[in-house]
Amino acid sequence: MKSKYDILVIGGGPAGALAAKTAAEAGNSVCLIEKRPAIGTPVRCAEGIGKDLLKEYVKPDPCWISADIERARIIAPNGTTISLEQDKAGNEVGYVLDRKIFDRELVWQAAEAGADVFVKTRATAPIMENGAVRGANVISIGTPAEIRADVVIAADGVEARFARRAGLETTVPLREMMSCAQYLMTDIDIDAGSTDFYLGNAIAPEGYLWIFPKGERTANVGIGISGRRSRDGSRAKDYLDRFVAKNFPDGKMIEAIVGGVPVCRPLECTVADGLMVVGDAARVVDPITGGGIGNALFTGRLAGQVASDCIAAGDCSKEALMAYDTGWRNSKMGASIERNYRIKEYFVTLDDAKLNTLADSIASASLKEFSVRAIIKELIKRNPKMILELKALRDALS
Ligand SMILES: Cc1cc2nc3c(=O)[nH]c(=O)nc-3n(C[C@H](O)[C@H](O)[C@H](O)COP(=O)(O)OP(=O)(O)OC[C@H]3O[C@@H](n4cnc5c(N)ncnc54)[C@H](O)[C@@H]3O)c2cc1C
Repeated sequence: MKSKYDILVIGGGPAGALAAKTAAEAGNSVCLIEKRPAIGTPVRCAEGIGKDLLKEYVKPDPCWISADIERARIIAPNGTTISLEQDKAGNEVGYVLDRKIFDRELVWQAAEAGADVFVKTRATAPIMENGAVRGANVISIGTPAEIRADVVIAADGVEARFARRAGLETTVPLREMMSCAQYLMTDIDIDAGSTDFYLGNAIAPEGYLWIFPKGERTANVGIGISGRRSRDGSRAKDYLDRFVAKNFPDGKMIEAIVGGVPVCRPLECTVADGLMVVGDAARVVDPITGGGIGNALFTGRLAGQVASDCIAAGDCSKEALMAYDTGWRNSKMGASIERNYRIKEYFVTLDDAKLNTLADSIASASLKEFSVRAIIKELIKRNPKMILELKALRDALS
């Protein structure tokens, strides 16, 4: 490990891997550190991603694709099922990955591009000089060290400790931190071609429960509920256990994880002098689905590009790095996060009766496309009693 690099990336998830790869390909000296002993484990993810989205960053490889999905189904509290076939749902239907291999492959590509990679190496605090980030203090396999860099890219995931220690406000309101639990289950009866999403306050308050197949009789079965609805006897795991006991009583659990997903708005600013924040640490998860792999790849790559430009220009100040912040905010991804945040804020106010009404009217409509606009138009037409709130939602989105 050298004591000075052009760019130091903290975290070996999708965001950090793409940042490191992009910056190394541009000719920079890059160091990526990961606190865990192995990239990709344990997996804290349901592993679903849209096909087109994924292809923008990496060529799909059967080695790390567990399942190719044909449709997504949304199941309302009363059992009404909305089926989104691939031709209508497009990006909402996709692959279920094997992230143990996928994450490893991305970091491999960063290493191949020239980045140094160190596992079991944790950033403990930023090195600060005159208010600017100049690197990180780390502990690498038990040994303390200092790594200096012109730019540090914080890709340390939902905890976002590095940015907080550098002075950025990263707090997620409790109600906007999805508390998640997931089992990898086998020997269960599922539709292996469908990702299923169960809605309802009795099943998953202010969230949803998912079944993401990973093969014929195997799936990630998980749940996310709002942090404010989590309490003794009603934690994410309790809801999940009840669902599993009812639906898969003979299933076998071969992995269990818990984790948090931030469904708040992104950080107010994702750069500071010498610092860029990407992926979950920047809070760029889709607020409706909680999906964050694609946005982590997008922000990681963009950060790698902007950091490279700034290093070439000899200016790594906050002002220069702002090209990254404005870049993602003005992108399709930035617009979609803002739009989906507003939709999410509307949907968490709905009780089960309203969810059923909306699901019934979508299920009985023959929509030509499954765009947000088309759905809201149809809902307004079919639900005169909810016209005022649906119009308010439409106005908020226009
Ligand atoms: C239960 C659950 C289900 C999910 N399902 C989906 C899904 O189906 N589809 C989807 O798109 N998204 C899903 N997500 C979200 C998705 O997992 C994340 O959005 C994505 O992994 C973000 O990538 P990242 O690189 O920003 O962060 P991460 O993948 O979290 O990577 C951050 C890395 O930084 C490392 N790190 C942390 N601190 C330090 C430190 N101090 N020093 C060194 N390394 C450090 C961590 O060990 C970790 O490896 C899910 C999340 C959860 C919790």
